[in-house]
Amino acid sequence: MKVRIDTDKCILAGECYYNHPEVFKQGVDALPALVLGEVGLKMFIKQVQEAVEVCPSGAIVIED
Ligand code: SF4
Repeated sequence: MKVRIDTDKCILAGECYYNHPEVFKQGVDALPALVLGEVGLKMFIKQVQEAVEVCPSGAIVIED
């Protein structure tokens, strides 16, 4: 499972890393980044899907 964060679309609203710090973190320049690799992301699929739904800019994409 791959998750991409489109940092050009991200408006730094912070929902992803505030709501799911086990999956996302605030990285360089306050932009969100992933905490987990592919295997870890599979284990937290519900949280990833919720972040995709809640992100106000549609910046989080599940690629496969
Ligand atoms: S929820 Fe979306 S807009 Fe907000 S920081 Fe995360 S990726 Fe960016």
